[in-house]
Amino acid sequence: MSTAPASGEPLIRVVDLRKSYVLGDVTVHALRGVDMEIGAGSFVAIVGASGSGKSTFMNILGLLDRPSGGRYFLEGQDVSGFDRDRRAILRNRKIGFVFQNFNLLPRTSALENVELPLLYDGHARSGEDRHRKALGLLQAVGLGERAHHTPNQLSGGQQQRVAIARALVNDPEILLADEPTGNLDSRTSVEIMEILQRLNREKRITIILITHEHDIAEYGQRVVAFRDGRVVSDRAVESRRDAAAELAALPALQEEAAV
Ligand code: ADP
Ligand code: MG
Repeated sequence: MSTAPASGEPLIRVVDLRKSYVLGDVTVHALRGVDMEIGAGSFVAIVGASGSGKSTFMNILGLLDRPSGGRYFLEGQDVSGFDRDRRAILRNRKIGFVFQNFNLLPRTSALENVELPLLYDGHARSGEDRHRKALGLLQAVGLGERAHHTPNQLSGGQQQRVAIARALVNDPEILLADEPTGNLDSRTSVEIMEILQRLNREKRITIILITHEHDIAEYGQRVVAFRDGRVVSDRAVESRRDAAAELAALPALQEEAAV
């Protein structure tokens, strides 16, 4: 299956995207016709009140779900009608996810959590190879020393860093993060944003960040606001925040105590 982008096509393009959920006699219109283009290598923040359709939108972009109407073109290919299996293949190859609640397996080391997606990626890798890849990613997010800790031995910020390493293990082009700082204090949130900005800048990973916090959205290049399943504004961020610079300006913190 060729996925080479048609010339001039953005990485992501959605046209009149709609999603309805039918619950008994009630139909919830979660997306009511969204048009958007997202270029490769960009960093877009999606904001909006609870219930405005942000997660529904992310689930469709992430090929976890299918639209009820409209079109989704990924690298120029219309994927709107892809069945579960075709979506899974494409998703595993192109998309990484980070969630508010980390979604790590308990009683499983950080290293094993990061390695796990490699078991399903269809390439036969040796255990040693998986190990090396996962450890490298944990080191990149500053957790090399804690590779053998389980989630309950890690702070929230550390667990989210493990989740980011896991999201990167199949070398995705797109990282979708749904409220990744929703359960974190403000300093830890800046640390997570520093990692996302670095991945975007250095690895050219396209980042789509969902947040209801407007100050967090300002780490992106562009902010798209949803209301009632529609885009109500789409603007470039004028003075973008720089998480690395903010961290450098914060007073040094003592090494986090082991939990
Ligand atoms: P947000 O992430 O912005 O809070 P969601 O996309 O989760 O918004 O939800 C948008 C609307 O769709 C809400 O009214 C929500 O209740 C509804 N909704 C979301 N997921 C489902 C589902 N699986 N079944 C039924 N309704 C849903
Ligand atoms: Mg949501």
